[in-house]
Amino acid sequence: MAISVKNITKIYGEQKALDNVNFEVKTGEVIGFLGPNGAGKSTMMKILTCYLPASAGTASVNGYDVAGSPQDVKRSVGYLPESNPLYFDMYVREYLEYAAGVYGASNVRKRADEMIGITGLSPERHKKIGALSKGYKQRVGLAQAMIHNPSVLILDEPTSGLDPNQLVDIRNLITELGKEKTVMLSTHIMQEAEAMCSRILIINKGNLVADKSTAEITRTTGNRQVVLVEFDKPVTEGELKKIKGVQQVLHSGNNRYEISASDKEDIRSQLFAWAVEKGLTILTIAKSDVKLEDVFRNLTGKK
Ligand code: ADP
Ligand code: MG
Repeated sequence: MAISVKNITKIYGEQKALDNVNFEVKTGEVIGFLGPNGAGKSTMMKILTCYLPASAGTASVNGYDVAGSPQDVKRSVGYLPESNPLYFDMYVREYLEYAAGVYGASNVRKRADEMIGITGLSPERHKKIGALSKGYKQRVGLAQAMIHNPSVLILDEPTSGLDPNQLVDIRNLITELGKEKTVMLSTHIMQEAEAMCSRILIINKGNLVADKSTAEITRTTGNRQVVLVEFDKPVTEGELKKIKGVQQVLHSGNNRYEISASDKEDIRSQLFAWAVEKGLTILTIAKSDVKLEDVFRNLTGKK
């Protein structure tokens, strides 16, 4: 087992950040750790990488206990922390050579070059880290996390703050890395976990609320699209519900509506045709993410 978590609880003062959490990650899995802000994702990742002790329970990585064998755990794990702290004044290659040295690599230059190749940093390798775009800074963070060739990668919100192009690049890179390594990555975006992970753990307020294959999660919560639309004139929810494919309509102020529909076909073309027929003008229309709150509701059956 690459990661094993048993009855982990973490209390910060009065705040219970993790409440008796249990899960396992098999070697080779790419697993998504999904939850809203404050759910306890970073806390769990810090415990698994020996940056924080748990208040109760046990956890191990590659069979090494996080409390008993932190050195072995750290050798097994590559960690990309949430804020990706980097030395902005160092050059990319200089930093990676330094990181390789910390882990006792025999040939730091060779190791840094290998990581530059794998993470696609070649065009930027002579720049100072502070001068890189956010996407390239994330690549440096990933290169650093993998410098000692760990078999397990723990990546805390690796795509947060990236623009759409960078996001796609980093997702692809992580998917590539996942072919060789066990990966646990956190995110608060459902679609992201679906895109990269074979299994999804969902955490909310320190409790694990789901541990299912991505296919299963998509079956219970997915096959859905959410579209935000604004008309120039008022319409009724009842009228909108009659459009083929529309499942749910929420009035979100003025002439704005949030429309959930099955994802068999893009509902936006239906909405356009319908608006034209009714003599309405669509002022804005945009696809939205399926909200985590809806996912929880569907999974837990709670209203
Ligand atoms: P996530 O990464 O899912 O956003 P975190 O693990 O960072 O969640 O935080 C979980 C909860 O623990 C939050 O309520 C947060 O405010 C609290 N918390 C995190 N770190 C600390 C800390 N050092 N001291 C006190 N409370 C903390
Ligand atoms: Mg976090």
